This record gives sequence, C-alpha cells and structure tokens, in this order.
Amino acid sequence: MAFKQTGDIAAQRLSPEQLSCEFSDIAPLLDASAAAAAASRCHYCYDAPCVNACPTQIDIPSFIRKIGDGNLKGAAVDILSANPLGGMCARVCPTEILCEGACVRNHQDAKPVAIGALQRHATDWAMARGEVLFKRAADSGRHVAVIGAGPAGLACAHRLALSGHQVTIYDAHEKAGGLNEYGIAAYKTVDDFAQREVAWLCSVGGIDIKHGVTLGRDIDLDTLRQQHDAVFLAIGLSGVRALAMEGEDLSGVMNAVDFIEQIRSASDVGTVPVGRRVVVIGGGNTAVDAAVQSRKLGATSVTMVYRRGVESMSATWAERDFAQTSGVTLVTHAAPTRLIGNAGVVTSVEFERASSEGSQERFVIEADMVLKAIGQTLVPVGIERELLTLDGNRIAVDESGQTSLPGVWAGGDCAATGGIDLTVQAVQDGKIAAAAIDAQFARTAVKAA
Ligand SMILES: Cc1cc2nc3c(=O)[nH]c(=O)nc-3n(C[C@H](O)[C@H](O)[C@H](O)COP(=O)(O)OP(=O)(O)OC[C@H]3O[C@@H](n4cnc5c(N)ncnc54)[C@H](O)[C@@H]3O)c2cc1C
Ligand code: SF4
Repeated sequence: MAFKQTGDIAAQRLSPEQLSCEFSDIAPLLDASAAAAAASRCHYCYDAPCVNACPTQIDIPSFIRKIGDGNLKGAAVDILSANPLGGMCARVCPTEILCEGACVRNHQDAKPVAIGALQRHATDWAMARGEVLFKRAADSGRHVAVIGAGPAGLACAHRLALSGHQVTIYDAHEKAGGLNEYGIAAYKTVDDFAQREVAWLCSVGGIDIKHGVTLGRDIDLDTLRQQHDAVFLAIGLSGVRALAMEGEDLSGVMNAVDFIEQIRSASDVGTVPVGRRVVVIGGGNTAVDAAVQSRKLGATSVTMVYRRGVESMSATWAERDFAQTSGVTLVTHAAPTRLIGNAGVVTSVEFERASSEGSQERFVIEADMVLKAIGQTLVPVGIERELLTLDGNRIAVDESGQTSLPGVWAGGDCAATGGIDLTVQAVQDGKIAAAAIDAQFARTAVKAA
C-alpha cells in the first residue's frame, strides 16, 4: 500500500551518505582469523544444548569443528543439509533465545560461542563460490504444488526437489522469499541476499517458481489437488489486525508491515517517507523493526508503546536493547484509546495506563505518523470454502503438517504447528511436511507395486 505524504511526513530526511551508513550490514562477516578464534571457543559438547535449542537441529559442534579445521565446505554441508535457508537464519535468528542462549559458554564466561556469525561465515563462503553441495535424486515422476515462496515453502520445495520430485511454487508477490524479501529489517539482510539465497536454493533443479499468482484469485485449491500429487500451503499471515478505534482512518496512520515492505522494496531507501514524530503501537519483531527503521530514515522521535510489561513482549531482550540503543523510547503498560487528528491528518495518540493506585491515567503522545504493529492474521482466501479445518486463526495440522484435507499439508506462520513465528521454525515446518509427503509417495508406490 503506497503511503500518502501528508503533514510532517517526508522522504530524504537524511543525506544519501547518512542513509547508507544507517542501513549498512548490522553484523558484518567474520574474517578467517576472527572465525578461527570464535570456533576455538567451542567445547564440542556431547549432547550439545545448542543443537537441541535449534528448531532445525543443525549439528552445531560438528560445523564449528570443521570451520576450525578450515573445512568450510564441510561446515556448509552440515548447516544447509539441516536448514537450506541457513544463510538467512544466520542473519535473522534471535540466537539469544535459541542456540546461543543455550550455549554452555554462557555459564563459563557469560559469552556464548558466536554460532550465528560462524554459520554465516560458512554459508556465505559456499554461496559466494557457487559450491554444488547437494545432488538431486532421479526424477520420481511426482509433482507437488507449493503455495507461498517464503521460508516454509522454499524449504519444503528444496527437500522435495532433492528427493527427485518436481515442484511448482506459486506466489502472489513478484519476488520469491516471502518475509525474507519483504519483511525482515533491511540492515539484517543487505546486498539482495534474499534473492541470492533463492537462486542458490533453486539451483538444485526441479523447482519452478510462478510469480504473481494468487491462490483464490488466479488458481484454486481443487484444481491444484487434481493437477498435483500433493499440495503444501505456506501462505504466511498476510492480514493485519486493526486497532478498531476512533481515528484509525486518519492520514498518517499505517500498518507497520506495509511501511517495512516499502523500505524493503525501495531501490533507494531515501525515497520512503517518514514522520518526524513516530509512534509505533505493539511489542513484537514488527514493532521493533518499524521503530528502528523509522529512526534510521531520520525521524526525530520514535516511541514504541506496548500494552503490557517488557516480560510479555514477543520481541527478545536483545531486540529491545537494540531498539533503545537506536534511540527508540519504550513505553509499557499503556493501551491506545483513540487517534486524534486535525483536518484528516493524525496529530497524536491518546493512551490509557493503570496507575499504581488502580485508577486509569490518560496521556497523549504527539505524532505525525502512527505505525500499527499489533499482529498479523491469516487471510483464508482460496481456502475458506474448502474442507480445511482452522485452529483459531491458523490452518489446523497434525505433527507432520497434514491438514484435514487429504493430500494437503501446511506449515510456517499460516499453520497451527505450535511453534513460534520465526524464519527458522517456518523452515523446519517445511522440512517436516516434505518428509511426510515423501513418505506418503513411498507408501503409495509400494501399494501400486
Ligand atoms: C516485520 C517482520 C520482521 C520479522 N523479523 C524476523 C526476524 O528478524 N527473525 C525471524 O526469525 N523472524 C522474523 N519474522 C518472522 C518471519 O519472517 C516469519 O515467521 C517467516 O517469514 C514465516 O515464513 P512463511 O514461509 O510461513 O511465511 P511468509 O514469509 O509470510 O511467506 C508467505 C508467502 O506466501 C505468499 N502468499 C500469501 N498468500 C498467498 C496466496 N493467496 N497465494 C499465493 N501466495 C501467497 C506471500 O507472497 C509470501 O511470499 C519477522 C516477521 C515480520 C512480519
Ligand atoms: S553449547 Fe556452545 S560450547 Fe557446547 S557445542 Fe554448542 S556452541 Fe559449542
């Protein structure tokens, strides 16, 4: 959605030099000696807790040992065979609550092994050299439709293609990658990495991506089921929750995901308009990324307001710290009550907070731009008239990703798998569904024989 330039919202607040500095790589690549030093800190633990904390179960001590031995190709195989999007996950995983959070080194010298940085060291090396790491099995004669080219769909497609199945991915967007391309903060994935990773992943062969094709508009589930041996739904959560309150239609009020998509889609981030005083409503990843990127585009004041305490925020402590060190003010225990405007343009937001005496206190924060980040929802277009059972706001699935509809699996954010909404979890869901589809094919092959 294009954002109208109104009030004090303007593009080019900072010089091109300042912007290129603000949006540069947040965690630059380790060089060989830094990687060797980081690898040497690993104890190669037996029953390593870091592996158990990784949703894709990468054999972390094994790949770190290989980096230490100078075997970067072997390290990349270890990583990418467990997680084909290991390059992106090395950039975006909240490692502080996953592998690095579980590392035994935290108890020894309060600093985990730099697992994410080492993972990036090995995967970037392999991708930059165009190393051929995997070989596809002979053609199985099976054809699978994958809907959605985000992390879940790509991981599923890669696994299926390796097993010799033919995969067609249909995606509504012009580019593949899902939120890797349109959602992740720009400074986490620079130099078009999302597209380079998609190209590497598809280089295994057997994967055809049809861009700009929307389930429910251009294609329907019944036809896909008839034309393919299996279907995997990986459509993410493309809807956004509304505040449902007075003033939401004022100019200057926008969904944070749309604002972020504008930044990710811009060939020059300087062309993206931003307010001078920005208020972000929400407490998750999206809220943090919208707030930090507003600051980086040149907003003078950015306030992130969350209705509960920091302990309930889905953004991790590291993301919160990052927002605050980037100049974002965090206000907790305050819920918006209305958006106030003048001549159709937002001027402030009124909040309510319970005081320590139990009474309700109201206060106002001035704003010329308000970004709503209170959660994404499933848009069930194309699946609503089918027999698919929903579980709350997601597609109901069993532990293998199987939906209530025979031959149809689902995974990633759109499915009720019980995991958290992270890139790495979507990858794991895609892998699990691919294994189940493959097993189903094997069973039917045995029956037919
Ligand atoms: C702003 C933001 C920042 C985030 N930052 C991080 C982070 O730093 N680290 C992290 O681990 N996680 C992060 N996440 C979460 C992570 O991006 C998601 O959990 C992950 O992308 C989910 O993958 P997916 O494949 O299920 O869905 P998506 O990535 O959403 O991909 C779904 C794909 O389906 C397509 N699609 C949707 N509907 C249709 C349809 N009807 N027909 C055809 N195609 C369709 C879409 O175009 C899209 O390409 C972030 C999320 C957001 C919103
Ligand atoms: S827990 Fe830490 S020290 Fe142990 S294997 Fe994992 S990365 Fe190495």
